[in-house]
Amino acid sequence: MTLREEVTQLLQELLRLDTVNPPGNETHAAELLAAYLRRNGVASELVAKTPDRANLVARLPGADGPSLLLMAHTDTVLADPHEWSRDPWSGELVDGEVWGRGALDMKGHVAAAAVAFVSLARDGTPLPGDLLLALTADEEVGVDFGTSWLAREHPETVRADFGLNEGGGERCVLGGRTYYLCGSGEKMTAPFKLRLHGRSGHASDPHAADNALLKAGPLLEALARLEPPLSLIPEVEAFLELTLGEVPPVELALQRAEELHPLAAQLVAPLLSATLSPTMIEASRKRNVIPGSCVIEVDCRLLPGQEPAELEALLRAGLPGEWELEWIPTELVGGTRSPMDTPLWSALQAWVDRIEPGARLAPLVSAGFTDSHYVRKELGSTVYGFFPLKAMETELAARLIHSADERIAVDDLELGVDLFRHVATTLAA
Ligand SMILES: [Zn+2]
Repeated sequence: MTLREEVTQLLQELLRLDTVNPPGNETHAAELLAAYLRRNGVASELVAKTPDRANLVARLPGADGPSLLLMAHTDTVLADPHEWSRDPWSGELVDGEVWGRGALDMKGHVAAAAVAFVSLARDGTPLPGDLLLALTADEEVGVDFGTSWLAREHPETVRADFGLNEGGGERCVLGGRTYYLCGSGEKMTAPFKLRLHGRSGHASDPHAADNALLKAGPLLEALARLEPPLSLIPEVEAFLELTLGEVPPVELALQRAEELHPLAAQLVAPLLSATLSPTMIEASRKRNVIPGSCVIEVDCRLLPGQEPAELEALLRAGLPGEWELEWIPTELVGGTRSPMDTPLWSALQAWVDRIEPGARLAPLVSAGFTDSHYVRKELGSTVYGFFPLKAMETELAARLIHSADERIAVDDLELGVDLFRHVATTLAA
């Protein structure tokens, strides 16, 4: 069997397991992967906080050079079969694409990492440093069964100098030149609540009460008008320098990116400032009771390096009326970055040079959150998001993730195996 066939088959088997989170049940995936490794003479270990949420970890010893962690999550978001043109758990292979929930996010990546790992072990290929594999639970909900728990309670299983995870690898042609995006950092999620007070009363007599819900109107309008200050983080500077040939002033950055390509503007837009998206509101639980309090929840994302206090000052200055601000401390997470000038960067660029001469690796910060954060924060590793997406259009892939008809091109799976093998065998100190 070729590596292409091997990775396709392994992905199909993974897609046929339902690991929708919640509840996850990732142990099914971990056991399938452990059996695959075992069949190929490679030992692994299941490490679990609770029996049904297992993480698979394995290690191949290398020389004294830098160690590398291949990390990926085995859970998926849900899928509504009625929205799909094929069964989301079929793993069907159609016209060179494998279909199923998680094909892109990220069982395809899981399968490619496992096949690269196994094939290097099978061939006895000498490695410059230890190669670690961590196929983990619970990324999509993130309630401490997966990478966060491993990094804290079993750090030896994921501690490496360098790591590769999801969150990059898309091929883009911007202004006639080709780039592969490399996710070198991510924003911080910093959600908060705004609490408004009034006085409850019977809905038939509004004058006798003070309706807290009505106070939300002006507050929401002011929130919509609030513009967090723009700033150019180093990753965006580097991206603009590379793609535009110069770094424009921050006020012109979005316009210049738009002129280059709408995709460049889409990538850069959420990275020029903190963002504020009010998404939930709670007031009375009964129609005939005027609410004495009202709570608005805001999804807020800070730039790496930004502190919640900076945003708090902006809210105090820009929002009218009386309200209380409550950060949600358990959900203040992310905001870490890795340097862009590292041996891992060079190894990725060398791989890009090989598959597409002239193409450049371009840094990008993710507007969302990935498990890379825990490995950077707890263990100080340099972690990038990179999995090649060359055969499938970047815009199409972005539409399919967490949506209907998710699928991955077998050509990209094969490239993924090649990429992991390349980095694992060439990473230099
Ligand atoms: Zn994911």
